Amino acid sequence: MRTHEELRRAVGALDGRSYKAYKSIEGEWSFGSFGIRIDHVQADPFAEPTRVRAFVPPDMARIPEPMRHGRARADGIAAWLARRFARVADLESKARGTGKSGLIRLNAPGQEVLRQTAVQLGPDGSIQARFTVGLPAYGRRIRGKAAAELLCEDVPATIWRALRWDQYDPAELRTHAETNEDAEYLREWLSELGLVAFVGDGAILPRASGVSALPLRSGPVVPFDSPPELRVTAELPNRGRITGMGVPEGVTLVVGGGFHGKSTLLQALQWGVYNHRPGDGREFVVSSASTVKVRAEDGRSVSGVDISPFIADLPLGRDTRFFSTPNASGSTSQAAGILEAVEAGAHTLLVDEDTAATNFMIRDHRMQALVPKELEPITPFIDRVRQLYDEHGVSSVIVVGGSGDYLDVADTVIAMEEYTPRLVTAKARQIASIFPTGRVSEVSGPMGRRPPRVPEPGSVSARHGRRSANVRLHGRSHFRFGADDIDLSAVEQLASVSQTRAVALALLLASERFVDGQHTVPQILGLVLEEIDRRGLDALDSRMVGDLAEFRRFELAAALNRLRSLRVRAPDAPST
Ligand code: ADP
Ligand code: MG
Repeated sequence: MRTHEELRRAVGALDGRSYKAYKSIEGEWSFGSFGIRIDHVQADPFAEPTRVRAFVPPDMARIPEPMRHGRARADGIAAWLARRFARVADLESKARGTGKSGLIRLNAPGQEVLRQTAVQLGPDGSIQARFTVGLPAYGRRIRGKAAAELLCEDVPATIWRALRWDQYDPAELRTHAETNEDAEYLREWLSELGLVAFVGDGAILPRASGVSALPLRSGPVVPFDSPPELRVTAELPNRGRITGMGVPEGVTLVVGGGFHGKSTLLQALQWGVYNHRPGDGREFVVSSASTVKVRAEDGRSVSGVDISPFIADLPLGRDTRFFSTPNASGSTSQAAGILEAVEAGAHTLLVDEDTAATNFMIRDHRMQALVPKELEPITPFIDRVRQLYDEHGVSSVIVVGGSGDYLDVADTVIAMEEYTPRLVTAKARQIASIFPTGRVSEVSGPMGRRPPRVPEPGSVSARHGRRSANVRLHGRSHFRFGADDIDLSAVEQLASVSQTRAVALALLLASERFVDGQHTVPQILGLVLEEIDRRGLDALDSRMVGDLAEFRRFELAAALNRLRSLRVRAPDAPST
């Protein structure tokens, strides 16, 4: 392997030449105690920066074996190392010319601990870090000396300071490994107890602002304090005994006055499908992995979903057992969202009145009297939420401050009072019996089961006319897929751009390999995730990129379901 001294000479010799000449430094270089590989050199100083990988052997990283034992610990450490690397890279980066010249960047995870390609910890304790550098230029001319400083000083200093054993505090490493393992353990433990979520006492749920995932620190912050009746005790492998609120299966209501913390609690549950970094405040707020936030999303497209449990007899005789629209209403979008989530395998639904369609949630006694059932297509959620649980085993946690009618259908009622939960189920029952609403249920039969949909092969394609497959990311909540723009801004459990990128590429993989007119949606989701399980996230992009993060089947389903070109086989059509 060529040495770093040779690299220094090689880039020095390129000084003043045209940017393209940088191509010659692609390949592996040894720095003695570790190596780097320059995978792909950028085309010009403004293009996507140059991709580099660092290979750090076990004796340089010295992550103690017990600390990386098991997937959860290794993931916790990898996420921590990625954040370290990104921080150090920022400090070591110097502006060294035009455009991105001199910048070193690594895609660090946010508050959520997700398995990602940026930093990977091998079973032998080796580390692979994937980052980018901006190769220095003046205009389009190579700056040889600056390139030598970047590649032979800044880059090795970053790798050294971020990943070498004597640079970090072993106690910090241990915390990251153990916290992640504890959270993972909690999630497994939930299902054994028949709980859908756990919120640890002392947890900090509110965030710094509506646009920040960091914990709220300014002003008075009320740590979580579980109601005694819902308090459960878990014995965690590392931290030991911890108490908190167990949210039982079934139908749970979160009630309370405005601004008392209802939505904040629900949001904590929605992010509880992922583990959180130490210091986040939500390290021990954990919900079952198949928890899906559903909401109204008017304007989205819907393809061949049987929404008849919620919506039937639309004006002009439109069929809702095979419902497609390029422009759903609030209520139809929410109905579709629920049935799609159930199709993908959701076991818990989270619904917040703030983002729900009112007419989908409730039709009260007076409205029932004024508008006869025959003229109202909607069977509100309140009349199906029990069936979802009793027939399908799908629990719901619903934030409702505005409708007492829901008291009739709840198993558990939690009231938020000044950010502290109280169990008020008994009181709610009493009120429900003293003040009957007069409302009559609008369902006569069971909800029934619907067979999963089968997407039509040509309808899921990233090709645009005769051009080859085109998938392009636009931030965390949009990507281009062939001729379509997929809008995921109402898909609330996407944690990072890297996760969205992985979802986009997974949809491409699905379209090329598994959407064949035979496989159902849940089968396609399963096949994609199996492939990633077997081959890692690199199965999605063979270029060994550092900006992919693991994702759930529900977010992939959400992307597929929002593809406007999606067509599914009609229920009575013969199989192709
Ligand atoms: P609701 O849904 O009941 O109307 P929110 O959950 O939106 O209320 O919370 C209202 C405000 O209170 C938000 O700004 C939120 O950040 C803040 N908040 C929530 N929980 C806490 C807490 N435990 N301590 C301090 N502030 C909180
Ligand atoms: Mg709210």
